[in-house]
Amino acid sequence: MAARQSAWESAQIQLAEAVRHLGLDDGTHQLLATPRREMTVSIPLRRDDGNVEVLRGYRVQHNLSRGPAKGGIRYHPSTDIDEVRALAMWMTWKCSLIGIPYGGAKGGVTIDPRLYSRTELERVTRRYASEIGPIIGPEKDIPAPDVGTDEQTMAWFMDTYSVNRGYTVTGVVTGKPVSIGGSEGRAGATSRGVMIAAFAALREAGANPRDVSVAVQGFGKVGGLAAQYLHDAGCKVVAVSDVKGGAYNAMGMNPAKMLREMRAGMESVVGYPGTDAITNEELLELDVDVLVPAALESVIHDGNADRIKARFIVEGANGPTTPDADAVLESNGVVVVPDILANSGGVAVSYFEWVQDLQAYWWSEHEVTDRLRGILESSYAEVSALAVERGVSLRTAAQMIGVGRVAEAHRTRGLYP
Ligand code: GLU
Repeated sequence: MAARQSAWESAQIQLAEAVRHLGLDDGTHQLLATPRREMTVSIPLRRDDGNVEVLRGYRVQHNLSRGPAKGGIRYHPSTDIDEVRALAMWMTWKCSLIGIPYGGAKGGVTIDPRLYSRTELERVTRRYASEIGPIIGPEKDIPAPDVGTDEQTMAWFMDTYSVNRGYTVTGVVTGKPVSIGGSEGRAGATSRGVMIAAFAALREAGANPRDVSVAVQGFGKVGGLAAQYLHDAGCKVVAVSDVKGGAYNAMGMNPAKMLREMRAGMESVVGYPGTDAITNEELLELDVDVLVPAALESVIHDGNADRIKARFIVEGANGPTTPDADAVLESNGVVVVPDILANSGGVAVSYFEWVQDLQAYWWSEHEVTDRLRGILESSYAEVSALAVERGVSLRTAAQMIGVGRVAEAHRTRGLYP
């Protein structure tokens, strides 16, 4: 068995596939394959015990042709420059696909946030924000939460950036608390988008969303609320999981209740009353209608793709399926709703938040969710129409639209000098 494809390998292979279908020249391919700007920083951290430790942080701006760079900040022990590059590239295609005026970026710090206190994480965030400060700003590059970061991280980031400038700049990050310029509806936006994308795919296949069983890998910001929304909309959620493992009940479970207990201090979904413990690998291979991988990259690979029984995979995570696995799933007739479409609800509402910040004018939650639904449903329809027209997968169609628009922006702007 070949080694599992990394996120950066996957991103490059997907780009090459889109380039081939679009018939772009080699120079344009190279331009799109290469990040525009990369910054690596050291983050000296004073631990609570007084010792100093030096962490590593990154910010990659993959493309700036359609507008300022946009993308989250990840705190994870396995984060490295190549992962951040891949995630930045996917942000470029995602923003382009859903038609919001941004390029793509991603940031990260190599750290396991669970091993650090809140005050230590605050110091890490403030130092990281100061270090990457010169290339960040509402007109330049706008971070947001990702794996391991949340709205508190964004609040510290915004405060640090603002203090360094001498005035409050709410539009420098999105995914902030509503009390300091965040948007109504941002917290659940990615998960809501996952549900909208899943329902669009199910309806297209003639399936009734209320008759389907669902397994969700990841019970964090995206997976937890996706499980809840799908359950609330009538789906039977039979399995959920977190880093420690999964919980399974063929009769279904109530994710809202589990989320409440997590907030009240429950450490894991493993061992939840009325469920059987399963592993994360077993969850992926369950006999369900819909599988939502909502954790990390490359979890569906050439080693397990053939054992996936779900008819639909709706990618809440970025890059959960490798190109090797995509080929197997396609020949097995599995419909994969790709990440840059399925999880784009988060950045869609980030865009709404940034627009509200720039105008200092606030929208209601209803307005936000209505517009989110509009963007997601029209993007899905566009992707699915192109997939049918060109006889390609939803992933290839989504990439073709995303990549094609960025290539078009390059052509129209021209090369300087
Ligand atoms: N981290 C999220 C993503 O991967 C959100 C990015 C954003 O809102 O800028 O799409």
